[in-house]
Amino acid sequence: MPLDPVPGLLSRATELLEAEFSALPSLAPAADTERMASVLEGVAHRLSDNYPYFHPLYAGQMLKPPHPLARAAYALAMKINPNNHARDGGRASSEMEIEAVRELAGMFGWSEYLGHLTSSGTLANLEALWVAGQAAGTRPGMRILASEQAHYTHHRISAVLKLPFSQVPADHRGRMRMDRLEAELKKGDVAAVVCTLGTTAIGAVDPLPQILALRERYGFRVHVDAAYGGYFKLIPDALDEPARSAYAAIAQADSIVIDPHKHGLQPYGCGCVLFRDPAEGRFYKHDSPYTYFTSKQLPPHANEPKSLAGGPGHLGEISLECSRAGAAAVALWATQQFLPLSPSGEFARGLAQGRAAALELDRRLRADARVQPLVAGHPELDIVVWKLQAESPDQSSQRARAIFDSCAAHDLHLALVQLPESWFAPADTGQNQVENTLVTCLRSVLMKPEHEAWLDRIWERYMAACAAPIGE
Ligand SMILES: *Cc1c(COP(=O)(O)O)cnc(C)c1O
Repeated sequence: MPLDPVPGLLSRATELLEAEFSALPSLAPAADTERMASVLEGVAHRLSDNYPYFHPLYAGQMLKPPHPLARAAYALAMKINPNNHARDGGRASSEMEIEAVRELAGMFGWSEYLGHLTSSGTLANLEALWVAGQAAGTRPGMRILASEQAHYTHHRISAVLKLPFSQVPADHRGRMRMDRLEAELKKGDVAAVVCTLGTTAIGAVDPLPQILALRERYGFRVHVDAAYGGYFKLIPDALDEPARSAYAAIAQADSIVIDPHKHGLQPYGCGCVLFRDPAEGRFYKHDSPYTYFTSKQLPPHANEPKSLAGGPGHLGEISLECSRAGAAAVALWATQQFLPLSPSGEFARGLAQGRAAALELDRRLRADARVQPLVAGHPELDIVVWKLQAESPDQSSQRARAIFDSCAAHDLHLALVQLPESWFAPADTGQNQVENTLVTCLRSVLMKPEHEAWLDRIWERYMAACAAPIGE
């Protein structure tokens, strides 16, 4: 039963919750339930048109199935449908959000901070860059910089915020080039640098310690986008240098984004933004006549929402979004109760298993003469990319697409990614000619703990697909 691994988990808890409200007069039962059931049958049929994301043979995009407990907690919270905009819309779930976010901040080494959940990593990054723009304040024209391998939304977010944006070239490992960054900093108009710990394409880790050293000299904000890679903070021993040092420096960032719905076993709708300086809550000041801030209680911690008037503490007062799913906070809280964010815990072990699977797949691919791996080295996190040997980039791209299709026909789902040809070129060839040529490569994100145990079966199917690629 891959879709319902813990039958009965939700129904038991639903009965308990139901009992808590049993003193209320009962309501009329819902009408037209037969027609609802028949529409829902149609929904089940429609939903089958999807890749089997929940299965270990899905080893393509950055899709990790939510933990069964997270799904159950989310569904249970939906019986209430709390809104974490304000305590009046979700008292319990607001508390749970504050507690869950405290644990995330603690993972990065922060006990004093400002932070909250968001609907997504994009929204979280938007808030971080919005605060960066506000902090640059009176100096118009100040730029946001990010690597060309940073998430594509940073460019778009900067446009929305009307902040000038520039790309910094990446090296052959997909890391931001420090010489090119410094050249930009010398122009004296940089408000913030986005440092990606775990790029979406290949899981590259930007050199945070060097960026922080440049901050000393040039003065700018450092925003760490760890939407995908943030949880690797828990397993430094499983990482190689220089990624390990980058993660060790994360507490010195000005803001951090992490997506519990990427690597944190959560249903979609769960990003998180954290600011090192709790006083940055001042940028969120608003004065809405129709929101319902009623709590008079002073929050005990600096990291909790604090009204600018000095009293009420509602998450909506420190967040750009208004309504937000309280269920997302409930699911995250429950998951962190069960799988604490501890370096020695089961959750961390699951991350290490995915990473081990990635290293093993990389090792096997490097031993295959038909494959051109990244010349610069092994995966930094749990994403493997490889190019197929061929006479031209076009033929290589074609071959990648054929193997991608052939793997899918063998129930193995990989992904495709466009990367610079030069990243795969032997160091002694004239890289300048191929610098800008993009080639379609195969990509596998091995982010499920089960991927390690399934690697032989993944490899078997990959080999079978390579022996008989369709479309050639
Ligand atoms: C996925 C991702 C984002 C965007 O997050 P969403 O939750 O998809 O909006 C931003 N940055 C990085 C590095 C990511 O991997």
